[in-house]
Amino acid sequence: MVKVAIGAGHGYYTPGKRSPADEREWSFNNKVVVAAMMYLNGYENVSIIRLDDPTGNTDVPLSDRTNNANNANADILVSYHHNAYTGEWGSWTGTETYHYPGSSSGYSLAQKVHPGIVGSMGLRDRGIKNENFYMLRESNMPAILIEGGFMDSTIDIQKMRDDTVLDNTGKALADAIASHFGLEKKSSGDAFIEIITDSLWTYNTPDWDDKAVIVSRGEVFTVIRDKFPVGGGHMYQIKSGLYITANTNYVRYYTK
Ligand SMILES: [Zn+2]
Repeated sequence: MVKVAIGAGHGYYTPGKRSPADEREWSFNNKVVVAAMMYLNGYENVSIIRLDDPTGNTDVPLSDRTNNANNANADILVSYHHNAYTGEWGSWTGTETYHYPGSSSGYSLAQKVHPGIVGSMGLRDRGIKNENFYMLRESNMPAILIEGGFMDSTIDIQKMRDDTVLDNTGKALADAIASHFGLEKKSSGDAFIEIITDSLWTYNTPDWDDKAVIVSRGEVFTVIRDKFPVGGGHMYQIKSGLYITANTNYVRYYTK
């Protein structure tokens, strides 16, 4: 089983990490990470450890993120970000991927992943770089940090505001990771339902019990479920989280 530790940089409320139009870096990062998780789930023999708070409510400290990845013996770590230069709108642009200085395994992972991210974002290739970033230094496994584009770029923000671009970028990331480890596609694909809201009420619809099994294995997210009988059926209160379902439809609910 290949263990992929992945996280969206920062949290929704992290000061400063936003575009000049007050869009949150975490929200852009999260969309790519969620897509990557969904597409990785389409491969056999992979488990995912998510390092950030999937609701965005808290900015998980970097030490907690790397400790979680190290304690789980993750095989790789991917930290997903979007860049900023001055914080005012400008015309700088491009995608870059970082590894720890002197880490040949980090460099080789970056070489696998970077071209697909550049291709799906459709922005200038700023190259593979090395930097003494905390998460790259403190991770025991090959680790990369990706900057998909600049939040304060009038060029890049157009890509970042396009959910299709971010979804394709997550797919490119997942496919590159799968290629790196030689993972095979599942014959029948599960799908994800992602819910990012304080709660969502649903009546007797999907088979939430399926998802609870996945969650109890600790492989996806902690999900709190509540239910009570109503008129011969059950109401389910679904908290924020990422749920796996055998249903082939992929549904997202966002409130932020
Ligand atoms: Zn960032």
